[in-house]
Amino acid sequence: MKFIILVRDGLGDRPNAKNKTPLEAAKTPNIDAMAREGINGIMDVISPGIRPGSDTAHLSILGYNPYTDYIGRGPLEALGADIALKEGDIALRTNFATIDNRTNRIIDRRAGRIKGPLKELEKALNGIKLPVDFTFHHTIDHRGALVLKGKNLSAKVSDSDPHELDAQINKIRALDGSKEAKETAKILNTFTEKARKVLREHPLNEKRKKQGEPPANGILMRGAGAYREIMPFEKKFGIRGSCIAATALVKGVAKHLGLDVISVPGATGDENTDIKGKFDFALKSLETRDFCLINIKATDNFSHDGDFDGKVEMIGRIDKQIQTLSKIAKKDIVLALLGDHTTPVDYKNHAGDPVPICILGPTVRKDEVKNFGERSCANGNLHRLRGNDLVPIMMNLSGLAELFGG
Ligand code: ZN
Ligand code: ZN
Repeated sequence: MKFIILVRDGLGDRPNAKNKTPLEAAKTPNIDAMAREGINGIMDVISPGIRPGSDTAHLSILGYNPYTDYIGRGPLEALGADIALKEGDIALRTNFATIDNRTNRIIDRRAGRIKGPLKELEKALNGIKLPVDFTFHHTIDHRGALVLKGKNLSAKVSDSDPHELDAQINKIRALDGSKEAKETAKILNTFTEKARKVLREHPLNEKRKKQGEPPANGILMRGAGAYREIMPFEKKFGIRGSCIAATALVKGVAKHLGLDVISVPGATGDENTDIKGKFDFALKSLETRDFCLINIKATDNFSHDGDFDGKVEMIGRIDKQIQTLSKIAKKDIVLALLGDHTTPVDYKNHAGDPVPICILGPTVRKDEVKNFGERSCANGNLHRLRGNDLVPIMMNLSGLAELFGG
């Protein structure tokens, strides 16, 4: 048998003033039916109380150790955006931002969510002279990546992105005492300064200003990491998988592990994403692979925006499509439904609370849980798992696990 892991990003939550989480408030007849037919539990995605990023969460869910196998957000987002990296390359995630030229303060961290193609800006930035080889890549909207190539560099450097408005761009600092980190910080600060000049004078920004749009006149950087190869999933677990996700970060994790990343037309990473399309492509992918991980991002976006009702509605929207998978899971595949972390709407950020999980399939020992929620699933027979337990459990239920011993 084959299996599907469906991650609803940031799904877990905490009860509001009416003592309901978004999952408990949402109308989810189909997912509740899954909980009744399946086996349920809660999961500490990394370990109790640890607040996972989406990248470290997905690594853990896919059976890797985020403490030793995580290479940083920069290189993973770069991989997810189809940028080829070589061993030792230092990659950082970048934003085009709008800076007030008089006060040097950041007015917009995303330059009005500028739309591409921005090949002209990319070309101008790649014309900057630095003491090392580098490439700047525009990926989508305000996003991009900077890749430094060469010896004697280090990823142990801070972010220039202050992550808030009305602040100045931070000077990048070395995070350890090494010569390499100091040198890398210096190079990145030089790039930041030269980029300001190149962008300020760029005709595209002159045009934007005339049209009343915020100019993309600064670069913010974060998440420095050094690329290195990792043991591929297929070698580690002996099975072949694919991943369907819209966000570059999750796609990057999948690529790093050697999963096939499948593009689905209409998969947008926001609430308008084509949920059914993602499910159909996942089922199709199982014709040639053993499993598929699907990520649906929008639930997490609503949490970050503090939008309880939006999250409730998004959960309901997924419920309407889930039968595409759950009908088949009753007889032919094993299906796990979970979150990659808890993102409480009130907190607007990831928290370390466990996430609910339900597994449906012909081989599961179904339990007494009646509906899918953070608190109801805690009464299920999967009890309390770690993220790392998931792949072995799914392989066992699918009949794909090797016998350990004689
Ligand atoms: Zn996430
Ligand atoms: Zn998030």
